[in-house]
Amino acid sequence: MPVFATAALLLAFSNVGLTASAPVFDHVIVISVDGLRPDVIDGPEDGALPGFSRLKRGPHTLQARTDATMTVTLPNHVSMATSRPVAGPNGHGWTENIDPPAARHGGTLCKKHGSYVTSMFDVAHNRGVTTAIIATKSKFSILVQSFDDAEGEMDRDGNDDGKGKVDLFAITRTSRMARDHSTGWLALHPKRSLLFVHFAAPDGAGHEFEWDTAMGSPYRAAVKEVDTEIAALMTMIDADPALRGRVAIILTADHGGGVPAKTHTEWTAPENFNVPLLIWLGSDTAATELIALNSDRRAVVPSTTYVGDDAVPQPIRTAEVGNLALQLLGLPAIPGSVANAQQDLLLIEPPAPKATQ
Ligand SMILES: [Zn+2]
Repeated sequence: MPVFATAALLLAFSNVGLTASAPVFDHVIVISVDGLRPDVIDGPEDGALPGFSRLKRGPHTLQARTDATMTVTLPNHVSMATSRPVAGPNGHGWTENIDPPAARHGGTLCKKHGSYVTSMFDVAHNRGVTTAIIATKSKFSILVQSFDDAEGEMDRDGNDDGKGKVDLFAITRTSRMARDHSTGWLALHPKRSLLFVHFAAPDGAGHEFEWDTAMGSPYRAAVKEVDTEIAALMTMIDADPALRGRVAIILTADHGGGVPAKTHTEWTAPENFNVPLLIWLGSDTAATELIALNSDRRAVVPSTTYVGDDAVPQPIRTAEVGNLALQLLGLPAIPGSVANAQQDLLLIEPPAPKATQ
């Protein structure tokens, strides 16, 4: 098996041009773990977290950052889906963190922003990629109301794949159900797909019992619960010849938590703005540090230092996820986006220049 996996990986990488920053996959799963602090998946305890441990066998960092101006759930998820910051001239502008009103009462990104806000679902769906959102909080409906048959933009890319950009939208209550929906959907074998999965459990535990990362804490138990489902999802992918080696996973979080103690609203607190960004390229590979790999194109800043939206270049932020997912599908960047808009986030070491004879 290890020999086969290596061969498959080399085959995938051999399609990469000299200037390409990442290999290309048929399926990309973006996983957001609500309230996941990086320190809880770091250190010697991570052997108890086989799912997160596997996702760390690839390019990753435990010092990615949320949006610079907000460390709450919905604005940051909209940033992931649109690769825009929350605020500013290029921002998506969705600052609410509650169930959105109905579309006819202003509950779409377009109505809040004043013009259409394109998402990773638009770019993927318009090119024939099947899309899904499986979330454990109902307010994610903003991502469907904004992109459904009534509110989505016309598809002017090649074939008309329709105005609705999200083929499946499911709200579930438990981590187990989120995984069941995800594996059930993947088992249908869409030709190409983009799946956005959200697990809320750590955030719930943090609000109720604090972001206590000690062994045996309710917060750590909730992280373990999500890890179990991620490990199961990866086992399912490994076991399916139609999926094995063809699925990339991007895992991140909308915010950490703990400042103030039972919440995460202080956006300048490292406990809140530091989040993991783990990228798994279809098989367990060598772990590489994403910030070091991208030090020529993203800011390298101590994890305790707050960085505003105005810094150039920006540190690696979770808003890059939308364009990164498209990068891994071999698709162009989201129109109007700013985070990773050049799709230049390096995931693999560029090949060394050939020595001249
Ligand atoms: Zn929360």
